[in-house]
Amino acid sequence: MHATASDSTFTVADPATGQALTEVSALDRDGVLALVERARRAQPGWEALGFEGRGAVLRDLRRWLVDHRDRVLRTLISESGKSWVDAQLELVYVADALGFWARRAPKYLADERPRPHSPFLAGRKLVNRFRPYGVVGVIGPWNYPLINNFGDAVPALMAGNAVVLKPARLTPLSSMLMAQGLRQVGAPEGVFLVANGSGATVGGALVESVDMLHFTGSTEVGRQLGVQAAERLLPITLELGGKDPMIVLEDANLERAANAAVWGAMENAGQTCISVERVYVEGGAYEPFVARVVDKVRKLRQGGPGGPGRADIGAMTSSEQLETLEEHVRDAVEKGARLEAGGRRRDGPGDFFEPTVLSGVDHSMKVMTEETFGPVLPVMRVDDVEQAVALANDSRYGLDSSVFAGDHRRGEQIVRRLEAGAAVVNDVITNYFATELPIGGVKESGLGARHGAVGIQKFCQRQNIVVTRFGLNRELYYFPYSRTTAKLVEWAIIALFGRGGRRRRRRRG
Ligand code: NAD
Repeated sequence: MHATASDSTFTVADPATGQALTEVSALDRDGVLALVERARRAQPGWEALGFEGRGAVLRDLRRWLVDHRDRVLRTLISESGKSWVDAQLELVYVADALGFWARRAPKYLADERPRPHSPFLAGRKLVNRFRPYGVVGVIGPWNYPLINNFGDAVPALMAGNAVVLKPARLTPLSSMLMAQGLRQVGAPEGVFLVANGSGATVGGALVESVDMLHFTGSTEVGRQLGVQAAERLLPITLELGGKDPMIVLEDANLERAANAAVWGAMENAGQTCISVERVYVEGGAYEPFVARVVDKVRKLRQGGPGGPGRADIGAMTSSEQLETLEEHVRDAVEKGARLEAGGRRRDGPGDFFEPTVLSGVDHSMKVMTEETFGPVLPVMRVDDVEQAVALANDSRYGLDSSVFAGDHRRGEQIVRRLEAGAAVVNDVITNYFATELPIGGVKESGLGARHGAVGIQKFCQRQNIVVTRFGLNRELYYFPYSRTTAKLVEWAIIALFGRGGRRRRRRRG
């Protein structure tokens, strides 16, 4: 771990050098509860600004982000060890998200006014209304300190909530900088607050006190939080781990597939929830695909981020992850896999793992069944599409997936058979930038989704409103119940749902 703890502070260090960067205050339970109270006091004023007022603040923050991009990138890189371009991609996502949610929220959260389908409700006004929960807690991981931390707070804020964000202890600095940015562009005090400290203490206090929780992290912690949230019936969405498969068909563009596999497995040093974690290659394409991948991986430049374009692959943000990588590679090689490239932790300073390719792998190996979360690309030969689909679905996870096919229509047919919440044909990871489409995991990869209309509606309660505009003194179904009432209801049942109803349906058909 790069963060070390005392009772009230912890140290944040640079994973690329091992050097300490700064001390950060850690909150105890009472400190978190006080912060949530501050957010609660700020929320009504923020909600009252309306979409226009809140959107203006988010757009100002986008300008601030672009104006201060160098500082934001250097902060992000220093705490995560990621390469310059990997950091830039985080900034691109958040800048885009600020504008996207500012523009789309009024539409996604507008009152819905369906027409009543039932004659019992004829003439009534029906409204489905979205109302912010109040205070939303966001808990984020260390692998994307901007995207999966502040980025997930953006739709919650735009919906009119105040947000208390708990970033991972390894990478709190980007979130703190975004809070500073919001203050500088004039966001009301208290609408976005950062709660730093240990997962169990801060996370536990948030589950106790917020009105809705959005969590991104491991399946193990997510499951635990789900149980805790159930005690309070606290609404929660969970974005969890993955073991994303890539399938390469014989007729695919192998050069594109190989480039995509290497980038998809190794961008952000493989520390991406939707990274390519395992590849299945059909028959005759296997040997040439492995050769291309190995050639490309050997040419990757790894090292301290340094500056724009200096390295392709940066450091591992969490040194604990290095042990998982070593274990997965050792286990695979012991069980007969062939190490084609890399395979080792580099000597210090800094926490680096060599970009690694394994061939001849199978599902007896951890590298094909457990989340590896590092720059490791295992490639397996399959006889045909049927075997590839069966193996891709042989996983407890179901996050993202990809298929490379000469015929994109066939590729789409195949991804529709994959048990994954997201899929890409002839590309990887791009679906995360399609903000208009909901994306989330199935199986043990999560509950709920981000993006699309549901990606902001989930930060709201729904209120069902039915308005009777022209009322008689009483409705047919009010008291007193009489034989006439019963007769009229029976007549209505037959007319609406009985033979008459059926005849009408036949005529329509
Ligand atoms: P993690 O589960 O260890 O930690 C995530 C966050 O939860 C951190 O802020 C941590 O401090 C906090 N936490 C830890 N214990 C807690 C507890 N008992 N109660 C409340 N909060 C607690 O995950 P990580 O190691 O930071 O991140 C890597 C994992 O996140 C990987 O599994 C990756 O796949 C997943 N991830 C998923 C997505 C997605 O969108 N599905 C995105 C990014 C990362």
